[in-house]
Amino acid sequence: MTFENLSPVLSDALVARGYEALTPVQTHVTESEAKGRDLLVSAQTGSGKTVAFGLAMADELVEDGRLPFATSPLALIIAPTRELAMQVSRELGWLYGKAGARIATCVGGMDASKERRALGQGVQIVVGTPGRLRDHLERGALDLTVLRVAVLDEADEMLDMGFRDDLEEILDATPETRRTLLFSATLPKPIVQLAKRYQRDALRISTVGEDRGHGDIAYQAVTVAPADIEGAVINLLRLHEAETAMLFCATRDNVRRLHASLVERGFAAVALSGEHSQNERNHALQALRDRRARVCVATDVAARGIDLPTLSLVIHVEIPRDAEALQHRSGRTGRAGKKGTAVIIVPYPRRRRVDGMLRGARIEAEWMDAPTAADVRARDQERLMEKLLTPQEHEPEDIELAQRLMAERSAEDIAASLVRSHRALMPPPEDLIDNGPRGRDRPERGERSERLERGSSDRREGFEDSVWFRLNIGRHQNADPRWILPLLCRRGHVSKNEIGAIRIGPKDTMFNIPRAIADRFAEAVVRTANQDGEDDSGVSITPAPDGPTYPPRRDKSGRSGERVPRATLGRGPGGDRAGPRGPRTPGGPGGNDRYKPKPYGQRSPRRPK
Ligand code: AMP
Repeated sequence: MTFENLSPVLSDALVARGYEALTPVQTHVTESEAKGRDLLVSAQTGSGKTVAFGLAMADELVEDGRLPFATSPLALIIAPTRELAMQVSRELGWLYGKAGARIATCVGGMDASKERRALGQGVQIVVGTPGRLRDHLERGALDLTVLRVAVLDEADEMLDMGFRDDLEEILDATPETRRTLLFSATLPKPIVQLAKRYQRDALRISTVGEDRGHGDIAYQAVTVAPADIEGAVINLLRLHEAETAMLFCATRDNVRRLHASLVERGFAAVALSGEHSQNERNHALQALRDRRARVCVATDVAARGIDLPTLSLVIHVEIPRDAEALQHRSGRTGRAGKKGTAVIIVPYPRRRRVDGMLRGARIEAEWMDAPTAADVRARDQERLMEKLLTPQEHEPEDIELAQRLMAERSAEDIAASLVRSHRALMPPPEDLIDNGPRGRDRPERGERSERLERGSSDRREGFEDSVWFRLNIGRHQNADPRWILPLLCRRGHVSKNEIGAIRIGPKDTMFNIPRAIADRFAEAVVRTANQDGEDDSGVSITPAPDGPTYPPRRDKSGRSGERVPRATLGRGPGGDRAGPRGPRTPGGPGGNDRYKPKPYGQRSPRRPK
């Protein structure tokens, strides 16, 4: 088999690699109208774009089936991250291996003197990250004066990461006659400007939608109570049992916390974030490649460009900052024609935001509840049945042992033991607080009423003098005491018994706290909020000096589920008596200097099984 249009040495490399056809982006860049021209390519990650630019630059490089000897580089590929640069280097390594390519990889965090030596020995291709390449250029180790082709890979990412100056300095050091190939998942204005400045008569190629970058990812939006986020992650991991899964958090602290928690529960997990050295990152990736680890918890930046062929599940543990980040993260799966699933965990208060983000990106997601522990157990059973009922050839030694077991115990006993030992190997699923209905399926107002609201009949004592607070979530956001209570305990550093009535309105919720501890509660709430006065799932807690404006729900006998001590309404935390020098209140003026970002995931309390 050969690939038409391609230089035989590259065609052979693709065949040897087991490729049967070019991907759409590879086809486009090798067509005759693209030959020798600058290219502005928007292709999704996972579309085979690395091989695409590898093929596209062949005309500038291959002479008589080989790359010529070169004292200075002929091709330069600039990529946003170390991992991506190393990945590109690996791909070009096999693609141009038979053509005798010498490739230098220049990335931050690696030994710069080694790289300088490699550059000095004469290489035809250089792959690197912008900062490190610029360093080499300024020190005279990188000579770009005879460069024939420059490739900018994931150009949008590079601009986002603030590499514009570095890119311009590097490109300004190359000859005007060079060919410039610009690859970018998206084409925002700054990219178009960059292209205008550095490209001539570029051919626009867009394979978005046409290739498989997008189509092979099934999106799911899983709604959860904020306190259930970690439980939902665990159940999703256990339900899917993906060969490799990647979990995204917003900060390195949250990566560390979630990683520690997963390891403690028995998942084979590694972490990738800015706090890890290059060496640690390499080890983590290697563990994923050779399957010692199956779960990778990462920040967006640390995971950019990573290509793990077995990765079939991406979980957005924390909501991505925008639609582009959503696509970049999700694009770690569904690569090279394989199917993948991207799950966004959506705390109830964030539902509208995620819905808007998905609509903006024209992504159709299936909205669903988080899998319950029962769902996971049912799936486990199916998998075990399938595994054990698959016909197998047994070793004589195993048959002998089976006969000895049969002589001692019934078949049922033995099978049950087998099931138990199988189950013991897997981290147990979590019972979630709330797997309640969503959206349109929600019961009519009132249906949930007393069942869900927390009256104070059993806890009136101690609440005679209390202070009211407001949560910015109500029935419309599935507000429910079952998850509100743990959330309040976590945010305000109080115990359940220190929270009085919880009154859920359509859009907000009121609750009261004994006056004696209200200051302490208010301060803890400020400390555990982010800059916006919310926690990471979008819940804010503010003083409500006027107390609830809607009446308590009434049960069938007409009695209210709770009693509000009227005398205490109308005072904020510390009471109005606290006056202008009263304690800082959440969201109140001057409170921001005490805000600290709050980790998304202190553990949801384990519930008895
Ligand atoms: P990329 O978009 O460059 O990150 O590539 C995604 C994955 O697709 C990599 O693992 C490539 O090795 C693989 N790949 C690229 N081109 C092909 C092809 N024509 N057939 C099969 N796999 C491919």
